[in-house]
Amino acid sequence: MSTNTCRRMLIYKEAGISAQGIQRFIFILFTLLHGVISETSRALDIMTNYPLIDGHNDLALQLRIHHRNKLSLFDSHNIPLVATDISRLKAGRVGGQVFAAYVLCSAQDKDAVRLALEQIDVIRRLCTENPELELVTTAKGFKNSRNRTKIACLISVEGGHTIDSSLPALRMFYQLGVRSMALTHTCNTPWAESSSKIYQHYQRKSNKLTEFGKAVVSEMNRLGMLVDLSHSSWETARAVLTHTAAPIIFSHSSAYTVCNNTRNVPDDLLLQLKENGGLIMVNFYSDFVACSKKANVSVVADHFDHIKGLIGAESIGIGADFDGASGFPQGLDDVSKYPALISELISRGWTEKELAGVLRLNFIRVFTKVEKVRDDMLNTSPSEVEIPFPEANNSCRAILTHPVRLHKSYGNQKSPLLPPAFISFAFVFCLLIMLKENIG
Ligand SMILES: [Zn+2]
Repeated sequence: MSTNTCRRMLIYKEAGISAQGIQRFIFILFTLLHGVISETSRALDIMTNYPLIDGHNDLALQLRIHHRNKLSLFDSHNIPLVATDISRLKAGRVGGQVFAAYVLCSAQDKDAVRLALEQIDVIRRLCTENPELELVTTAKGFKNSRNRTKIACLISVEGGHTIDSSLPALRMFYQLGVRSMALTHTCNTPWAESSSKIYQHYQRKSNKLTEFGKAVVSEMNRLGMLVDLSHSSWETARAVLTHTAAPIIFSHSSAYTVCNNTRNVPDDLLLQLKENGGLIMVNFYSDFVACSKKANVSVVADHFDHIKGLIGAESIGIGADFDGASGFPQGLDDVSKYPALISELISRGWTEKELAGVLRLNFIRVFTKVEKVRDDMLNTSPSEVEIPFPEANNSCRAILTHPVRLHKSYGNQKSPLLPPAFISFAFVFCLLIMLKENIG
């Protein structure tokens, strides 16, 4: 035995490690590394075959904040300061994205409808002016866009306050391509309750889904829109699940049992969701998955395991909420990182079939069922239900009165469309314009 060998053995001994121990350590390390590498490549393979459809992304909100919705000011492939752009969507194997047209609650009873229209416009522009993206409005659209290797975009509206308690407004959103609406954001509406207590407005002790709220849900069923219960209070969610004719979604919520935040879904509601045939799309935001600002991929996977154990993998999707919050788990901080989660789920024994469902097939199944309910209601006329005025009374809502009742002095005429005072005013107005034109 050479002096050098003796010295080496001495060093190992002093460290309390035998040569055999080192060999075993290297073997285990190699096996682990090999496992991680093979899980990562398997995750990428599965995601190539089943590109993700994510249920909730707030890029449009960030575009308003950073760029005032001006697409000409940035490159959609590489957008600084946000978690979403086309390059990273591709790297994350995203094949479909539901983009939220979010409107802040302080706009309720003010200009929420206009703001929603502007957010719908920017999503439509983003998804029609970039050849790699494709705006879709049907479940089939998701399937077709995959064949064309495009990223499908679906528009959702986040917060029922955006329809200003008006079913015609809801229908017009549908005409613009909106196919999903969260009934509330952090504020109550006059007809549904939020999970948040930030805003005291429209607070009520009972009746968490009013008759008008039920009419909203029924009209969404008739149109073929996804009813989204993320942000709704649990009581409102229970009432909707009892009332709806179609499956519902939680587009970006996690499991309350794993993290007790009221934005998450408790077990009894998950069981009701299972009966409804709907979907919970798990949110990644650290506060909702770890009840803390610090989180990792493992804790997100805990939500998937819990929900799968309770109601099955076929009820689960992904709605990461990127760009809707600040503070995402380490290793899951932008849209390019989804494979890390799929890799973790593979290491926990999730099968390819379960993952294919989570990634896209469960969402397509639910959307297809929502469309089937729409088809079954083909003979149902658009609802003409109006919210009772006292329930939506606010200073910004115009009081519309029939001219006959407003101008009682003309009561003898059957339907005076233009009362004389108006005609006189119009005459003077036209005269002034003619004079102005003559002047130059
Ligand atoms: Zn949200």
